[in-house]
Amino acid sequence: MPIRRLSEDVVNRIAAGEVVERPASVVKELVENAIDAGARRIEVVTAGGGVSLVRVSDDGAGIERGDLELAVERHCTSKLLGGLDDIRSLGFRGEALAAIGAASRLSVASRRAGAEEAWSITVEGGRVGAIEPAALSAGTRVEVRDLFFATPARLKFLKSERAEASAVTDVVRRLAMAHPEIRFSLSGSDRTPLELAAVEGEDARRARLADVIGRDFRDNAIPIEAVREGARLSGFAALPTYSRANSLGQFLFVNGRPVRDKLLLGALRAAYADLMKRDRHPVAALFIDVEPHEVDVNVHPAKADVRFRDPGLVRGLIIGAVREAFAASGPRTSSTAASATIAAFRPAGRTPLRPIATWRATRYGSGGPAVAAGLAEETQAAFDIAMPGADVPAAPAAATEVISRPLGAAMAQVHDTYIVAQTEDGLVIVDQHAAHERLVYERLKRGLDDNGVARQILLIPEIVDLPPDDAARLTERAEEFAALGLVLEPFGPGAVAVRETPSMLGAIDSAALIRDLAEEIAEWERADTLRDRLERVASRMACHGSVRAGRRLKREEMDALLREIEATPNASECNHGRPTFIELKLADIERLFGRR
Ligand code: ADP
Ligand code: MG
Repeated sequence: MPIRRLSEDVVNRIAAGEVVERPASVVKELVENAIDAGARRIEVVTAGGGVSLVRVSDDGAGIERGDLELAVERHCTSKLLGGLDDIRSLGFRGEALAAIGAASRLSVASRRAGAEEAWSITVEGGRVGAIEPAALSAGTRVEVRDLFFATPARLKFLKSERAEASAVTDVVRRLAMAHPEIRFSLSGSDRTPLELAAVEGEDARRARLADVIGRDFRDNAIPIEAVREGARLSGFAALPTYSRANSLGQFLFVNGRPVRDKLLLGALRAAYADLMKRDRHPVAALFIDVEPHEVDVNVHPAKADVRFRDPGLVRGLIIGAVREAFAASGPRTSSTAASATIAAFRPAGRTPLRPIATWRATRYGSGGPAVAAGLAEETQAAFDIAMPGADVPAAPAAATEVISRPLGAAMAQVHDTYIVAQTEDGLVIVDQHAAHERLVYERLKRGLDDNGVARQILLIPEIVDLPPDDAARLTERAEEFAALGLVLEPFGPGAVAVRETPSMLGAIDSAALIRDLAEEIAEWERADTLRDRLERVASRMACHGSVRAGRRLKREEMDALLREIEATPNASECNHGRPTFIELKLADIERLFGRR
């Protein structure tokens, strides 16, 4: 077959396919253009999920009559003044309007500031129409109708109207997060409207994020600020206890451009790795700003991928800054967890308290103390019965010094599982197993940093039978485990011998630990660094060496545990991201009793 040159029409359609994948990509390009034009108000209207109509109006700089034809022509742009190494605008390829015009019925109406009249141009399936006068007081209005009418094959790949409409919402939300100073509105017959008022000032970003992500994000997020070698990271990251089942709560921006970049998402995940269960996802909005020549955004026509000149720097910046922020924020647990607790305390219709007479009857049978008549007497009777026989030590008079600590003074252990402590303005309930697990884990990590975890020699090595694959995998890693205080050796093809264990774990079930580790390393992905892996091993070990729920603790032990939690970074969550303690403020308790 001879080689032929493709017609310009076909070339344009091929290119258009890369820029305009679905209605949301149209909205993205048009809103980016409005932002680049310096708009303060951007209005987006859609119909039919954006397939029948997308209209974006702005109050930006506008396009001159003489430039309208160029604006819709491929490879024509007013941006890119400094070349591809110095991209400071969202657009730079000069192909969005041309691509949209090739795939739909496009009309662009615009009025340059100070111009006498507004003018418009139309493009239908790539055919450019004449320039005509338009009615528009200022800015630019771009209308896109019947997307993909010229390429019906594309239509078949679109999702439902609902799904396309919500992809449009997502695009607008992401762009709006990066530009709190711009007022956004999104409406149409296919959606519930979204209105985002312009916010200015110091707290603008936080306020816009709260408007977009939700108010509870603001209450549960910690500010992130860090600079490293010319790269600046800022934004907010939610506490590990405020997590989601999917990654839709992760918003990343590079030089004001929303991106879905694997490197950045991976770094965010790694920053939370040991604070969260693996099937949970962090929620965060992070903004990275680097010199334009440090990053290449010209990777794909849709501009959602970026390449950094120094990816390691950016990864390290994210992991370091997020971890530090959590460590520095001290013992703190998500407010949504606390309000959930309070909600649970509220007398709910589902679990009515048993009337005291019934209670007494079940306890004493019909021969019990005579049923008193009034409620007050019944209450009194209950106390009379409960007090003398009960094996409850009187609460200690806690030292004021201890009470003023964040986790207060231990008052009691309940169900051999929870420590109840009194603080200056409330009470704290600690899950002793979760807390201890975290402490052991942090100690193991410290041991790694200090080159060695103290270990104890087992009098009789424990032989653990395993599938041969697992046994081989484990013994290959023997050196790494030794760094964490676990010494093991091959013992025939299907077994390992455990000779030493980390002393801080105490007496443990080594066989259970070994099986757990075999499962862990079977999941190791190549991408993990050695350190990441060791930390995961440490996390599994901590699980085995922790004070199990169900062990009775002396008051000194409880207080010691509380003090150590206070002194340990990240101690408000266990290794799986569950809270290790919850706090009830006196005010909340008073509210529960209707005192407030
Ligand atoms: P790019 O944004 O990459 O330059 P586009 O095809 O999106 O390419 O737009 C082409 C040109 O049209 C832009 O460079 C800009 O000069 C002009 N333009 C497009 N949209 C607007 C708008 N909303 N306001 C002002 N000018 C616009
Ligand atoms: Mg553009």
